[in-house]
Amino acid sequence: MKVEQLTQFTDLGLVETLLRALREEGYTTPTPIQAQSIPPLLQGRDLLGIAQTGTGKTAAFALPIIQRLLANPRRAEPGYVRALVLAPTRELAAQIADSFRAYGRFARINVACVVGGVSLGPQRQALARGLDVLVATPGRLLDHMGTGTVRLDRTEVVVLDEADHMLDLGFVVPIRKIVAKLPKERQNLFFSATMPKEIAGLAGDMLRNPVQVSVTPVATTAERIKQEVFHVESTRKRDLLVELLRRPEVKRTIVFTRTKRGADKVAQHLAASNISAAAIHGNKSQNQRERALESFRSGGSPVLVATDIAARGIDVDGVTHVVNFELPDVAESYVHRIGRTARAGADGAAFTLCDGEERHLLRAIEKLTRQSIPAQDRRQPGAPSLSEAPRGAAPGGRGGKPQGRPGASKPAHAGPRPGQAKGPGAAPGGGQRREGQFARNGASRPRPAREAGGFSR
Ligand code: AMP
Repeated sequence: MKVEQLTQFTDLGLVETLLRALREEGYTTPTPIQAQSIPPLLQGRDLLGIAQTGTGKTAAFALPIIQRLLANPRRAEPGYVRALVLAPTRELAAQIADSFRAYGRFARINVACVVGGVSLGPQRQALARGLDVLVATPGRLLDHMGTGTVRLDRTEVVVLDEADHMLDLGFVVPIRKIVAKLPKERQNLFFSATMPKEIAGLAGDMLRNPVQVSVTPVATTAERIKQEVFHVESTRKRDLLVELLRRPEVKRTIVFTRTKRGADKVAQHLAASNISAAAIHGNKSQNQRERALESFRSGGSPVLVATDIAARGIDVDGVTHVVNFELPDVAESYVHRIGRTARAGADGAAFTLCDGEERHLLRAIEKLTRQSIPAQDRRQPGAPSLSEAPRGAAPGGRGGKPQGRPGASKPAHAGPRPGQAKGPGAAPGGGQRREGQFARNGASRPRPAREAGGFSR
């Protein structure tokens, strides 16, 4: 298969029912992960995709799944599911279900989303009818399996999305329980932004001779976003946040906090400073979360304050800035956080407020992303020197010139990154891409070669 030459959706072997839906979506060219994944998936192969949100991975799996269902147009039997997608969060699950509905709008498929935090009744009814596509979070799906509302032993294809995030949330055992109920004969799709050992083990157990596709290696994503660190005392973070949010170029921002309580407190402080902000975290009801997201999406609130878990998978266009009000405990979360901006080829920037206690976390992030982040010292006069600061942090200025990669150690997550296929999804510097190749109708712009996995719009 010569993936190199496949640059249009019409080259990928998709049926007209889907091509029409893509035209209506305004997609003109496949993203790298779509170009590389769709042909082997249409052949029924298993797939291991190293990719994160923002790369177009949802369409990469949804389109071939819909086509597979159409190729064998039978009704799902009551209580059975033909295609199952497992996602870690409610928001991501809802988005995936919406994507299936959008791409399948001329295909007459029935799709349902089954997640926690909402009532069971309507979910039971949908499952009882039988489904072409079920998108579910693992916990709620297990509940339904336990009561016999749904059976998986006739499922033809299964997708595990954001597997590394599933691990963070403790879903590996539930997933193994679910997978144990699937028939032996099935197609498996497995997506993860990173490959920690446990996830590689799960992939190894689930997948049979998979095609491996890798786009946007985690470090690359971090590199293409303009990043800046502010060294500041923890007590002065809130004022600095307000100052940053008032900058004219800061239009739509996600502010990350480490805890749910922290998110609420920041949102309250912003409200007191006349900055409209919505907060989203695990303690909020599904309704509150949806309202907060809607207000952020529509521009009603230019700021969304979120915890890592709540924000993962949120796909909002036009996020100009990400602010790390607190550093994440796990360095990889930094990459996921800042990946909320600069999506689909747009520009984006990330500010990180770092107090003295957090400097070791900053060091871990710099090691993982193999870069040093330019830094400003915003601490009170007389603060002790930053000589203990991370490599490259430049007190009192924007110095901190990135040091490049020579001798950089491998990031901790480095697991299988095979299939760094050449062609539309080629790795940075692959030189295969035509300008504007991944544009939506009209507005294309040339992309720097290192924007490996995304696309311009
Ligand atoms: P995902 O990585 O699946 O979350 O997709 C990120 C965003 O890209 C979503 O808003 C999609 O609607 C959009 N998208 C996916 N594929 C394409 C494409 N080929 N052209 C333009 N936009 C796309």
